[in-house]
Amino acid sequence: MKIIDLLNQKALSLSFEVFPPKTQMNFDSVKTATEEIAKLCPAFMSVTYGAGGGTSKYTLDIAKNIKELYGVPTLEHLTCVSSTKETVKQKIAEIKAAGIENVMALRGDIPPELEGADRSRWDYNHAIDLVRELKSANPDFCIGGACYPEIHPESATQKDDIMHLKEKVDAGCDFLTTQMFFDNNLLYNFLYKIREAGITVPIIPGIMPITNANQVARAIKLSGSFMPQRFKSLVDKFGSDPNAMKQAGIAYATDQIIDLYANGITNVHVYSMNKPDVAAKIQGNLSDILGK
Ligand code: FAD
Repeated sequence: MKIIDLLNQKALSLSFEVFPPKTQMNFDSVKTATEEIAKLCPAFMSVTYGAGGGTSKYTLDIAKNIKELYGVPTLEHLTCVSSTKETVKQKIAEIKAAGIENVMALRGDIPPELEGADRSRWDYNHAIDLVRELKSANPDFCIGGACYPEIHPESATQKDDIMHLKEKVDAGCDFLTTQMFFDNNLLYNFLYKIREAGITVPIIPGIMPITNANQVARAIKLSGSFMPQRFKSLVDKFGSDPNAMKQAGIAYATDQIIDLYANGITNVHVYSMNKPDVAAKIQGNLSDILGK
């Protein structure tokens, strides 16, 4: 099932993100966690891919398992930065052979050891190069791309970022998923600007439930996201009590999703990070709205 065909419904639907194991040793525990999430019957599940090859080995195995055992459509992430054409073509051939129809085309973060390197010789500099590669390998792939309501950290201005985003979409992205954000107004503002720039594909907002205080610093470092005072107060109050923090973080994410739906957004992607209990609680909080 292509993700683009799931995005035109009027009711709210959730998708969940998982990440593959780093080593074979963790494979079974990750597989079990992703299966627990698949049992919640989300609209689709995405499986991340480590830039530079770190966790790339098991992405396809996890995606295939979810799809074949539970019938949940999967979105396989693929990055291209610092990869050779040969490696990327090989990966695309494997994805195609596994019958995966949906691919998230990403550049990936530049590995620290390659910062400042002469990029002119790299086979891939931006996600748009991968979008083109995927389209030429299989015009039927449903392709997703990443977008940044608070602008990508490497962009000088939001105007530049949106201009490059439009080029990426025009190259063949069928939909976009956003970086996490904790203030929905940033998303609404971004949507207005990208629609004005002529980007018309569906946008899936990405919501990260913060379930422990340590995650806050990590999430900000990773995404550069703005933390509203309302969220900071919650971390101040509950950060030292793991159970209370988890409950408050899930409530905050649920509240964000309800507000998105109330404002006309029907597809929300939850960065559930291999935590079936968190995914289940969010889904449970929304049971009447989701009709599940
Ligand atoms: P690009 O679209 O290439 O954009 C990167 C920067 O380059 C932006 O500033 C953009 O404006 C600029 N740019 C784009 N095209 C051009 C051009 N032609 N000329 C000049 N500048 C240009 N990382 C992983 O390693 N694995 C994952 O599975 C993963 N999943 C993700 C899922 C989502 C939804 C998101 C939002 C991010 C994900 N990331 C993942 C992180 C992502 O790889 C990084 O944010 C990375 O720095 C940028 O990737 P991109 O695909 O957005 O790159």
